[in-house]
Amino acid sequence: MTQFKSIALIPAAGMGKRMGASINKQYLQLNGMPIVSRTISFFEQSPLIDSIYLVVPAEEIPYCRKYVIEACGFSKIEAIVPGGKERQNSVMNGLNAMRDHVADDDIVLIHDGVRPLITEQILYESIRTARVHDGALAAVPVKDTIKTVRGGIVTDTPPRESLWQAQTPQSFRFAKIFQAHLSAEADGFIGTDDASLIEHTGGEVHIIRGDYRNIKITTPEDLILAEAFLAVMERERTQC
Ligand code: C5P
Repeated sequence: MTQFKSIALIPAAGMGKRMGASINKQYLQLNGMPIVSRTISFFEQSPLIDSIYLVVPAEEIPYCRKYVIEACGFSKIEAIVPGGKERQNSVMNGLNAMRDHVADDDIVLIHDGVRPLITEQILYESIRTARVHDGALAAVPVKDTIKTVRGGIVTDTPPRESLWQAQTPQSFRFAKIFQAHLSAEADGFIGTDDASLIEHTGGEVHIIRGDYRNIKITTPEDLILAEAFLAVMERERTQC
């Protein structure tokens, strides 16, 4: 295998309105550390990751530099980039910031800033899969029956065996995902994740096994769940 770099791109430029807190949800404490700092800390500590691009709202950059980057002494942060209106715009800003510093075949791992419970196993599988396919998507099979609803009426019940819940990281070779974002922009296509942009160009995204604990912290109850999961994961890590 040729030498390549693995770069984490962390979109953290959402406003976090669903949390109902007075500060952006990503700065709420999860066992004594802001959620987004915990996410960055994972990539900072992983030997699989070479550098990190962080995307935050433009007006939060000074706060983030002082209370997230300097406070934790993170050294792999290559740039803090201002976010955009939609998540897709934020990711594109991150890709644009790195384009002159990465090779086409370097792997970009795009991971939500509010998803701090990622594991090294997911990271490893994600990079390995993105090296040989158009994209690697961490996902878990859905547990509930999912309904399509229009105007309060159920219109469809898709077979559960074919339904997976998309998580992040979603990983790609740089040239693949950059091209997919450019095509989406040209077509006016907006996706809620990065895999959908590859699908839009006809590419094949491969599933890797995510983890039911790798949740996106969006609402107050997610924070309670994350605290419980984190306690278990830390206990597992210290057991021999
Ligand atoms: O709200 P959503 O589920 O899209 O958020 C997923 C991640 O994308 C969060 O970490 C959020 O901060 C980020 N995001 C972003 N720019 C936006 C919207 C969301 O970086 N405009």
